[in-house]
Amino acid sequence: MYLYGNTWRQIRYKRLVKFPLCALCAELGVTTAATVVDHIVPHRGSKELFFDSSNLQTLCEHCHNSHKQRQEKSGTLLGCDAEGNPLDAMHPWFRQPVE
Ligand SMILES: [Zn+2]
Repeated sequence: MYLYGNTWRQIRYKRLVKFPLCALCAELGVTTAATVVDHIVPHRGSKELFFDSSNLQTLCEHCHNSHKQRQEKSGTLLGCDAEGNPLDAMHPWFRQPVE
């Protein structure tokens, strides 16, 4: 199913109007104009994830290409919580030993 149609274009446009700055740059205290509307959890064709507004963030081109592509390629979210556990629940760290 093709998800990037008119509905997505409207969502994307409204999002960029409402959140014109890059969310990742903002965390670092940097103000950068956002140009990309990104899915926080990769949707991988899931309509629910794709159209879930809480799964969206606006990013600049640079953040989208570096940070996000790496996450999507490796399949893991980088970083740890305060206890040192990976942020990504699917991280191999959480896997039970095979034997
Ligand atoms: Zn950025």
